[in-house]
Amino acid sequence: MTQQRIARLAPAIFGDPVEAVDTPALLVELDAFERNIARMAQFAKAKGVRLRPHGKTHKCATIARSQVQAGAVGVCCQKVSEAEAFVAGGIEDVLVSNEIVAPAKLRRLAALTAQARIGICVDHPLGLDALIAAAPEAARPIDVYIELDVGGGRCGIEHIEDGLRLMDRIAAARNLSLAGIQAYQGSAQHLRKPAERKAAIEAAVARVLGLREALVKRGAGALRVTGAGTGTFYLEAASGAYDEIQPGSYVFMDRDYGDNEWAAEAGRFENSLFLLTTVMSRRARQAVVDAGHKTHSIDSGMPAIAGRPDLFYDRPSDEHGEIFPASPEVLLPELGQQLRLIPGHCDPTVNLHDWLVGIRAGHVEALWPVEARGAFS
Ligand code: PLP
Ligand code: MN
Repeated sequence: MTQQRIARLAPAIFGDPVEAVDTPALLVELDAFERNIARMAQFAKAKGVRLRPHGKTHKCATIARSQVQAGAVGVCCQKVSEAEAFVAGGIEDVLVSNEIVAPAKLRRLAALTAQARIGICVDHPLGLDALIAAAPEAARPIDVYIELDVGGGRCGIEHIEDGLRLMDRIAAARNLSLAGIQAYQGSAQHLRKPAERKAAIEAAVARVLGLREALVKRGAGALRVTGAGTGTFYLEAASGAYDEIQPGSYVFMDRDYGDNEWAAEAGRFENSLFLLTTVMSRRARQAVVDAGHKTHSIDSGMPAIAGRPDLFYDRPSDEHGEIFPASPEVLLPELGQQLRLIPGHCDPTVNLHDWLVGIRAGHVEALWPVEARGAFS
């Protein structure tokens, strides 16, 4: 039954030309994708930092395995259900870079330690209570990271004293081990100018060093500092304060990251993710494609159209997108023609799809299930 369902849902057949792919479908251009994976792995190796790519971007165990094969220590994710999918897919070191407080979820997390090294973040004594209650069920100690707010203003402790109190209780708890500090500066990632991102990460580093020093003074052993995304990883890596980087979007990139001004030291990452769509209706001044916002996320703005800067996508509805000419003389695509959209935001776009269709030289080479698609528990 399952096989039949998978066969029905796959939008492509191995070896087919891309024109035969059923749209809308998410394509991964494999040459660009493989270069992105290799580039980040080489960067981390050259800088002497551990690479733990964020799996929330792709939610796909095949991609996680490629990242580990290229040198990543494991992956991170945001949800227990994502961790379950990655562990089932053979990843042996998974950090939930997030707070989890529900007892049932924490018991599921503890159960995963039978198969993998598992980490989690805490930022509140009540959350830590819940973790302490679940930890005795673990097969080995769970790595606990104290999350520090380094300027994002979302999760994480605000005051060093709160970190010290958490540390004392982690040290005393059965099956918990204080692994380090989670310090992700989310609001810095899409600051457009390199100088703005640099200033934000300098401030984050100062916060990290303050907490680390206080924890060490209190008697903490080796502490690992982990954080960073695609917009800033080169800054955390160069800071000397971070031991591990967590970029996610670099494997695919998206229009929003494309709008960042890139710093030379960040290297070059390429768009490898495209939403293939077909013109299904056509008028003199507008073409309508079969990719609405049920197939790509618009929280970070509209997609770009690959290779067609003379066209723009607008007025998305559930199942339709409208294509307009950027200037009056531009010819619109014809009915039946395919276009490739560069999604505004890669992570939530992938979450809308069951399959990633790997393309090389214009043909379907891979079909990867997005195992953790919709996994948000
Ligand atoms: N680390 C954490 C904790 C995150 O929440 C995210 C993304 O939001 C990342 C890393 C990766 O960021 P990006 O996909 O922008 O590289
Ligand atoms: Mn994102």
